[in-house]
Amino acid sequence: MTASEQAPHHHDGRAGERSRDLFAAARAVIPGGVNSPVRAFASVGGEPPFIKSARGPYIYTEDGAELVDYVGSWGPALLGHGREEVVEAVIRAARSGLSFGACTAAETVFAERLCEIVPALRGGMVRLVSSGTEATMSALRLARGYTGRSKIIKAEGGYHGHADMLLVAAGSGAATLGIPGSAGVPAAAVVDTLTVPYNDLEAVKRSFAANPGEIAAIIIEPIAGNMGCVPPVAGYLEGLRELCTAEGAVLIFDEVMTGFRVALGGAQERFGVTPDMTCLGKIIGGGMPVGAYGGRREIMEKIAPLGPVYQAGTLSGNPLGVAAGLATLEILVQENPYPALEKTTRALVQALAERAAKHGVELSSNQVGAMFCGFFRGGEVRDYSDAKGSDTDSFGLFHREMLARGVYLAPSQFEAGFVSVTHDGAAIEQTLAAADGAFAAVAASKGA
Ligand code: PMP
Repeated sequence: MTASEQAPHHHDGRAGERSRDLFAAARAVIPGGVNSPVRAFASVGGEPPFIKSARGPYIYTEDGAELVDYVGSWGPALLGHGREEVVEAVIRAARSGLSFGACTAAETVFAERLCEIVPALRGGMVRLVSSGTEATMSALRLARGYTGRSKIIKAEGGYHGHADMLLVAAGSGAATLGIPGSAGVPAAAVVDTLTVPYNDLEAVKRSFAANPGEIAAIIIEPIAGNMGCVPPVAGYLEGLRELCTAEGAVLIFDEVMTGFRVALGGAQERFGVTPDMTCLGKIIGGGMPVGAYGGRREIMEKIAPLGPVYQAGTLSGNPLGVAAGLATLEILVQENPYPALEKTTRALVQALAERAAKHGVELSSNQVGAMFCGFFRGGEVRDYSDAKGSDTDSFGLFHREMLARGVYLAPSQFEAGFVSVTHDGAAIEQTLAAADGAFAAVAASKGA
């Protein structure tokens, strides 16, 4: 137990004096005071509380608040914060050396485990990197090298990290801040990036027809998680699979968010559609910086040193990251928390929807496994344009009201919420009580 957990806590998570001082100090030396843009709370208003520690489903702020956490480090904390076996594994590994930049036995054990668990990796190979961004940009380079083609297709509102070629109609922070592309990306870097609306198979067909023999790959989140949470419609993933096979393009599922979250083998296991390649991140590192990309052997054999596609990394396969990842995967394999996670998350989403309805607030809810989202709008949300139709002012108010009542949500309408195995009855009850008040505040602001 850390000191911050032993101290008596309140549940008002809004930045207090200490967080505001820390944010002011940060802003002087870190752009916007943050090392990743969405953390700045720009779209929900207010200042971010600074985090001191975390345990199970709770995070503790520098101002002494205990908050139910639905960010979970943006996905990695599926087992909750500070799971003992994972922390112990990291400490043990650290005592043997932090990094060697050379071969270790554990990397192979980890790769073997991944090749058992993730359908696209079975019989194939996997390469470890240090972030989701590295995984996707490396996978795309490889897909281009393998096919000898240049063009790639991505979805509007899909986020695959911040490589130049992928900052086109990107979701996540770019969506939150209304940045359609990014300054500093040369036109040449994105000429070969084609975008299609999510869940629209006909648009993908049209792209292939307009660019015959030129499409190297489709990169897609099999459940979109960076425009809020948007599941694939029936037949969408199957259709992408068929099209890529017919056209000789590489189908890449970016499962950085969905991997080990919506099923042990990710969305590809859940929906029974196996891509040619897959990208992993977040949970795979159990909270440490780890990513991976892998897939069919004949494709992976094109990477250096076996083949002509270059990709490298000083810290790739880092012993601490591998230790945390392995310990996390072992727990997931042994405990199979997925049915319970599904049940908890579904019940949470339903209860939130009931409270919204009670207060006359329009909310469109999506949920798959342990990821969920409530869009402040009516109707269904199937793509980025639907998501953008949400009332982001109401979301901002809801976010502030939830924070003031002890619930820490991602500070953007265009992000998913994440439930961990440690979100128990008490944490959920606290969340629902807060939501009741927060929806009431939204209703009041609308004069409802
Ligand atoms: N792909 C997806 C689907 C993601 O959600 C993210 C991060 N949110 C990334 C790639 C990039 O990962 P990272 O932030 O580790 O670079």
